[in-house]
Amino acid sequence: MQALVQDYPLTVDSIFRRVERLFPDKTIVTGPPGAVTRTTYGEWAERVRRLGGLLDELGISADGRVGTFAWNSARHLELYFAAPSSGRILHTLNIRLFPEQLTYIANHAEDEVIFVDRSLLGLLWPLIDTMTTVQHVVVMDDSDAAVPDDPRIRNYEELLAAVAPVDFHVDDERRAAAMCYTSGTTGNPKGVVYSHRSTWLHSVAATTASCLSIREDDTVLPVVPMFHANAWGIAQAAPMAGANLVFPGRDMSPEAIGRLLQEEKVTVTAGVPTIWQGLLPLVDDLDLSSLRTLICGGSAVPAALSEAYREKTGKPILHAWGMTETHPLGSVSHVQSRDAGADDETLVAIRARQGTPMPGVELRIVETGSIDPLPWDDTATGELQVRGAWIAADYYKPDEGVELSTEDGWMRTGDVAAIDRYGSIRLVDRTKDLVKSGGEWISSVELENLLMGHPAVAEAAVIGVPHPKWDERPLACVVVKDGESVTAEELLDFLRPKVAKWWLPDAVEFIDEVPKTSVGKFSKKDLRGKFADYTFAD
Ligand code: ADP
Repeated sequence: MQALVQDYPLTVDSIFRRVERLFPDKTIVTGPPGAVTRTTYGEWAERVRRLGGLLDELGISADGRVGTFAWNSARHLELYFAAPSSGRILHTLNIRLFPEQLTYIANHAEDEVIFVDRSLLGLLWPLIDTMTTVQHVVVMDDSDAAVPDDPRIRNYEELLAAVAPVDFHVDDERRAAAMCYTSGTTGNPKGVVYSHRSTWLHSVAATTASCLSIREDDTVLPVVPMFHANAWGIAQAAPMAGANLVFPGRDMSPEAIGRLLQEEKVTVTAGVPTIWQGLLPLVDDLDLSSLRTLICGGSAVPAALSEAYREKTGKPILHAWGMTETHPLGSVSHVQSRDAGADDETLVAIRARQGTPMPGVELRIVETGSIDPLPWDDTATGELQVRGAWIAADYYKPDEGVELSTEDGWMRTGDVAAIDRYGSIRLVDRTKDLVKSGGEWISSVELENLLMGHPAVAEAAVIGVPHPKWDERPLACVVVKDGESVTAEELLDFLRPKVAKWWLPDAVEFIDEVPKTSVGKFSKKDLRGKFADYTFAD
């Protein structure tokens, strides 16, 4: 039978035209607070069109990779739309990676140009000779940091002022639109390429009430960096919805985020748990009455953190799960109608789950090496696998032996989960972080969650340490809150009634800080390195 509807291409430039035509008066604010810059989508759109012209003028190939090395800002958002809308591929470089990783990534992606915030040029410029395909470095003035005298360095505003706006026509929705690299704990960083179609579909789904519920009357502050999986897709979804945007710019301190949330009357915000942990002590002195949704994901959200926000602001955290390979949104833990009126304990447990898949994503759990789905009984645990409209099929030019998908087309997440009968995920751990003890698995995530529920504990991370008899045993690494004190024995007594006896950590080490990854998550890899020679006392 013939198709009865138009074969309308789902492209980023169609999102752009929507924003330009329908929401020209809505605003984009870029921090730091006290020195914010304000623009409208109308002014922004005119600059996006000029930027399309600039990419032509710089001689960037038809599908050239356009690198960015930048904070969250209105200028960064110009690149988000101009690069894909002109057929190029946006490549957001993570400013917090090690120099060797940045060089690897820029060369692997074959970036032709890098747009860099002036405040970050000092980090990028020393690497420029190692980035063999980069021909231009375009500096975006966000500070008065020094700029070396070199013909490869150009000024964004000067270039933009000299070009004319262009029209955008991407017809093939399957064309690449953007790419991101995941750091990964072993091997080289891996590239994930998003298409126009996947970006469009992910954006629509993100705005829906099943997911982040972003509306025209929202003011959205993505604290999650635009170099971390497209700010979880908010960088496209919020403009698509016509919501105002607020970007932190170069000041990511809790004080600055708190001020922006209050002064700009933000309604929706998103970040990893460490961001909200950092803001928590300031919350009592802030007016956050405008806030509707505080989204948190990227690693497990401790129940204690969610509860603390509920007590202080009246709004619990909205817990989301995903990964760079899933664009990144996969599931969100909304309290569903059947649980309306449930007791507090049940609600706390629901909010600690990773939630149900958003429309467009399907999931299953399987035993390692098998493709037979395990039951959704919230007891069986296995590797979480996903498929859907924006799930990566493979990595970009993967290293030999790296395979993302199963033979029947499901993406391996490397996460271990249980699923309840309603399809809600409870993430047990990452495969590589599970503690293997006597042939059984211990969930480091669950132990951490419980430990962070102790009133004296600021942060807790649990790692497996080699053990002569049991293979591995859990070691709890704990950061105590300022002004509090607690002993190892007290913490173990606190855990004892809550976990099976053999789950109890063999030792507790007190540390000053849990090392963090480039996107602000607990770095178990660094922690394992720190305790590589650790032996348990008899
Ligand atoms: P990286 O591997 O560099 O951290 P990602 O940001 O893509 O890259 O991380 C994805 C991983 O983060 C997931 O596979 C999962 O292990 C973890 N993660 C993301 N969201 C959550 C969550 N809500 N709860 C627990 N873990 C999460």
